[in-house]
Amino acid sequence: MAKPKIALYWAASCGGCDVAVLDTNEKILDIANIADIVFWPIALDFKYHHVEAMDDGAIDLCLFNGAIRNSEHEKVAKLLRAKSKVMVAFGACACFGGIPALGNFTNRAEIFERAYIEAPSNANSDGTFPQIVTKVNGHELELPEFFDTVLTLPQVVAVEYFVPGCPPPVDLILKTVNLFATGQLPPVGAVIASEKTLCDECERVKEEKKISKIWRPHEIISDPERCLLEQGIICCGPATRGGCGLRCINANMPCRGCFGPPPGVLDQGAKLVSAIASIYEGDKSEEEIARMVEEVVDPAGTFYRFGLADSMLKRKRLVQA
Ligand code: SF4
Ligand code: SF4
Ligand code: SF4
Repeated sequence: MAKPKIALYWAASCGGCDVAVLDTNEKILDIANIADIVFWPIALDFKYHHVEAMDDGAIDLCLFNGAIRNSEHEKVAKLLRAKSKVMVAFGACACFGGIPALGNFTNRAEIFERAYIEAPSNANSDGTFPQIVTKVNGHELELPEFFDTVLTLPQVVAVEYFVPGCPPPVDLILKTVNLFATGQLPPVGAVIASEKTLCDECERVKEEKKISKIWRPHEIISDPERCLLEQGIICCGPATRGGCGLRCINANMPCRGCFGPPPGVLDQGAKLVSAIASIYEGDKSEEEIARMVEEVVDPAGTFYRFGLADSMLKRKRLVQA
């Protein structure tokens, strides 16, 4: 009997999700034993035309990591969607936009200005920007179009499952492949992680303490037994889905929210703001609240580090010229 076919792809990605698949170590051989890997740009020399030549639905499982930042990502997402029976948004960037979607606080014009004009290492006195089409010696060279707005994978194509994390932990990767291999995948739309919040899984001592000051992790020596948020360190646990094995907490670092919102939460950042406000102890005067807000260094990046594209905000408002 023919083995099922698996594809892996990276769009706007740092490569960490692909490395996480390799981090399964010898288990990668088990994956290769149960399935044929028919497309994996980071590891195998397949080309887009090999995928284009496949019948629709010929790929049984596609693990797609990375956000959609340009027209090439969008084109390959649509191609893989057509060719795949089961499409998985794999990793925080594909699920929620992830780190690349912090670019939604700016736009293409500002990013190009910074990258190609202002950056101190540039020598670009002509002010040349990348073009979608460039004519050279009678030939045309093409580059993908860089979008103004970073999108999540499900904002571009239908997705059956979500495997969160930056990157997804090895045990969740193996669980996903195992569920697929044994025909036990959950109902379509499921997030393959925990149904609890990270706080529900965290065994640190919680004393329902209020806070009156916010600290950055390097500014205090935190108690490794007590809740970090109750020590004044912003921890995204109350607004984050569990299932990561408390990777950061066990290293005495606060959660940054890479598993996305827990079930029933529409906007992870808003939920976190609400959680912090509920334990804030102060006179609640405008001055006091302003002081506390000032203590949050990079609030947008703190509350929407992984989820801006997927949030109610989605991006900074674009003003048309
Ligand atoms: S989710 Fe994290 S590890 Fe995966 S591509 Fe995005 S930034 Fe990299
Ligand atoms: S806020 Fe962080 S440290 Fe506190 S219980 Fe939740 S996950 Fe644990
Ligand atoms: S503790 Fe938070 S940021 Fe760290 S891996 Fe888990 S969900 Fe991601």
